[in-house]
Amino acid sequence: MKPVRIHIIKAGITNCFLLKQERVVLIDTGVPGKLGSFYKVFDKTGIDIKDLSLVMHTHGHWDHIGNTRAIVEETGAKTAIHKIEKSCIEEGTILIPPGVTRWGRFLGHFSKMSSGRVKIKTSKVGIEIDDNGLDLREFGIDGKAVYTPGHSYGSVTVLLDTGEAFVGDMAMNGFPFRKGAGLPIFAEDLALLKNSWKKLIYLGVKTVFPAHGKAFPIEKITELL
Ligand SMILES: [Zn+2]
Repeated sequence: MKPVRIHIIKAGITNCFLLKQERVVLIDTGVPGKLGSFYKVFDKTGIDIKDLSLVMHTHGHWDHIGNTRAIVEETGAKTAIHKIEKSCIEEGTILIPPGVTRWGRFLGHFSKMSSGRVKIKTSKVGIEIDDNGLDLREFGIDGKAVYTPGHSYGSVTVLLDTGEAFVGDMAMNGFPFRKGAGLPIFAEDLALLKNSWKKLIYLGVKTVFPAHGKAFPIEKITELL
């Protein structure tokens, strides 16, 4: 089997990832109104937008689901999210997790104030992921979605068989959230999040791809647990 090619799409403050192997899977759709960023990467890589088999969401926060409807309308791809956060996509529910550091609480205060202005264009969820996760082989990628709650209660991680993990906001690496790689500054349940990290480490994660900031080796997380 050929290796999975990984392309980063920066949609506002959020990294989204395009994975190509037998077919193409997109992870997250970024901040609303950034559809152009996706087209740019499709054009540059020569990936046919119609090969997209799945739009996978790490979780339902507004900066991860902002272009889902537009992309699904364009491609006909299925959407997947953990069932707990289905209403974020289907009804535009805005969830703001609490800050778990002093800076997180400070930033959280501002995001609460501005979140009233965010409008998500809603669409139907095709696949509701449960706690057993989802095998991505049927979507043409050697990997799986693993249920990893903590940052939000419905967070999932896409883990490739080769050890790359697309963790959404289970980790953050850099401005404006953190100085370096580490745990997120917002989380619904920090203890639950740490347990999810242990699960991922047990499953063999080697490289962490956060939605905010650059990729880094798993050892940085191991040190923090
Ligand atoms: Zn988040």
